Amino acid sequence: MARTFKGGIHPDGMKELTSSKPIEKLAPPEYVVLPISMHIGAPCEPLVSKGDYVYMGQKIADSPAPVSAPIHASISGTVRDIVPMPHSNGSKVMSIIIDNDFKDAPHESIQPKDLSTITTEEFISAVREAGIVGHGGAAFPTHIKISSGIGKVDRLIINAAECEPYITSDHRIMLERPEEVAEGAKLLRKMFGDIETAICIENNKQNVVEGLKKYLPDGCGVDVTVLATKYPQGAEKQLIFAVTGREVQSGKLPADAGCAVFNADTTAAIYRLFNKGVPVLRRIVTVSGSAICEPKNLEVRIGTPVEKLIDACGGFKEAPNKLLMGGPMMGTALSSLDVPVIKGTNAILAFCGKECVLNPNPVCIRCGKCVEVCPMSLVPTYIYRSYETDPVQVLEKVNALDCIECGACTFVCPGKLPLVQGIRVAKQRVLDARRKK
Ligand code: SF4
Ligand code: SF4
Repeated sequence: MARTFKGGIHPDGMKELTSSKPIEKLAPPEYVVLPISMHIGAPCEPLVSKGDYVYMGQKIADSPAPVSAPIHASISGTVRDIVPMPHSNGSKVMSIIIDNDFKDAPHESIQPKDLSTITTEEFISAVREAGIVGHGGAAFPTHIKISSGIGKVDRLIINAAECEPYITSDHRIMLERPEEVAEGAKLLRKMFGDIETAICIENNKQNVVEGLKKYLPDGCGVDVTVLATKYPQGAEKQLIFAVTGREVQSGKLPADAGCAVFNADTTAAIYRLFNKGVPVLRRIVTVSGSAICEPKNLEVRIGTPVEKLIDACGGFKEAPNKLLMGGPMMGTALSSLDVPVIKGTNAILAFCGKECVLNPNPVCIRCGKCVEVCPMSLVPTYIYRSYETDPVQVLEKVNALDCIECGACTFVCPGKLPLVQGIRVAKQRVLDARRKK
């Protein structure tokens, strides 16, 4: 039996809409919008000014803070302005707008790195300078994960589960560019001291195994591990348990269980950095959902407005009633098509018709389904009941902070309670109270 974790759900994957669609390169747009914050950690400060000419790959924003990641120009051209612009987080974020000169003039820093003599410190510094962050959605700076894990972890996991419905961007990368993921995994393994390494996929993507194995000869130390198809198989704690049987305790990190987890496209970004010298300039984005005329997997420059992606897919069949950046379970609702693609954007989904109908009178019928499916062994209905009015101590007691916001409880709830939305509020209340202390 394929390995997995406790709880979880089996939503309709809907991946057939795009899983056989080859990656299409979207022509670079007339301008890009690059927010100075597209990662977890401190926002960057612009290094350029209005009117400056910038080369493709040039670092245009950075921060001295330890947890941050620099931003690079994804096209060459002229800085039109540096102003607050709509961001996927729902607010306006200071952004560098670059008008494209359509030359893709590369910056001199784009040079393959010599791996034969590279030290661990140089490797980590290069990953930081390239602005590589977690591409699975969380966008945590990758150099921190590497530096804090080396010497502490004995298992390396490449997360290619891609368990959210609709999203097929990692699947297509592994099918079309398996060398990027396989060689990236080997590079990471080497830096971590030749530890046990596995590229982990769900068993709905077994057609990538042959291609990956061409670059993973026997004895190379990197295996392909096939897991059950179940949501949220790609959540870090669930993945670690499925692959190693280890549990990441409440409030602890994967490194505390001896594991480091890197997303498949993050791993590919590391390969591209060392083999081609390129920082993070592009993303593969799945554009799908019932409102999209022609769902596709698009390779786009970071900073491309979402509207361009929708246009490249033939536009909307009908006006969508929900637009998401990310998957249907954990994605962020967008209110504008002007929002740009950022480093953590793996999908743009648009839904119409009856797929997105809210129940005006949600009610708990005490069926216990939310408890059955919670992969964190929580009691979602208790947390939801307490989220607004109960003292913070109650929320601590019911372990609200352990919720990974996977949305599995909301998905199964026959009473249509917005459980995960309430639990998010509960978590915020606990965090605010801790900060005040
Ligand atoms: S799944 Fe919904 S209805 Fe069932 S116990 Fe949980 S909150 Fe109540
Ligand atoms: S309580 Fe949190 S972790 Fe548990 S199913 Fe709901 S969203 Fe997922």
